[in-house]
Amino acid sequence: MLSVPCDALRRQGYQFFSTRSSAAVKPCLWCKSDLRSRGACYKYQFYGIESYRCVQMTPTLRCTQRCLYCWRSFEHEVTSEEEIAPEEIVSRIADLQKRAIAGFKVSSDVSLERFSEAARPKHVAISLAGEPTCYSHLPELIDLFHHEGCTTFLVSNGTRPWVLEHCRPTQMYLSLSAPDQEIYRRLCRPKSDASESWERVQESLDLLGGRRSAVRITLIHGINDCSPERYAAMVQDSGAMFVEVKGYMYLGFSRRRMRRENMPEHHEVRRFAEEISKYADYCIADENEKSRVALLRRCA
Ligand code: SF4
Repeated sequence: MLSVPCDALRRQGYQFFSTRSSAAVKPCLWCKSDLRSRGACYKYQFYGIESYRCVQMTPTLRCTQRCLYCWRSFEHEVTSEEEIAPEEIVSRIADLQKRAIAGFKVSSDVSLERFSEAARPKHVAISLAGEPTCYSHLPELIDLFHHEGCTTFLVSNGTRPWVLEHCRPTQMYLSLSAPDQEIYRRLCRPKSDASESWERVQESLDLLGGRRSAVRITLIHGINDCSPERYAAMVQDSGAMFVEVKGYMYLGFSRRRMRRENMPEHHEVRRFAEEISKYADYCIADENEKSRVALLRRCA
């Protein structure tokens, strides 16, 4: 039985690979902004990723959690689908991206050269929505992207470590949204047992050492912006190369569950990152005020 909420999401700019699958591409605001040479994402500043040549995608919208801060709608949850083969995703992704940005071809502030470069992506951010490890062929998909000359960022909620351990993205991101199990249960609302799910996140953290990796902490004012020493202990043990402390943004369907006041100011995000750095071998390496994000880098 198929239940992919294509129509609602198409209206939001999702480009689906098929009507029977939730695998999708959706250019982010920064991709479009950079295409017009009006500013790139903080990932360009931190890691050199050119936003206009970056594809934001997911191989599935299925997920193991129902985070309060998620942009997705839970009214249109994907429960089953026919997965697209990794070879097909890789062979068609540039066409879908090109279709999604087609309107910019005639824009006076986008040169033909820049448009054609954008239609030949160099980087794939597997981060659109959903938990990508729910897709059965994720390790193969990542390897195929690399084979085609693209770099990859993989963003996971860490609830399926047995899949993550086989994935070799250019940079692995793990979301760590709570300093303890109780906040995790209330905020991330895992679909399976919360204690088991939290354990799995801890197992996934253990996979980050010795590889290019980042822990992503989405900071939500009044909900998870406490106990920096506990976050610090977890990232310290993980051995992750980077920690991104990023302020929650009041966007998409999360507005139905959160309040505008849950967005921390940039100075609060920066201060929380500084607090973490007091308890772990991480130093502030960079920050971006517009995106309300501070980057910590392992310094020992
Ligand atoms: S893990 Fe990601 S996709 Fe899943 S509910 Fe949470 S924020 Fe949304």
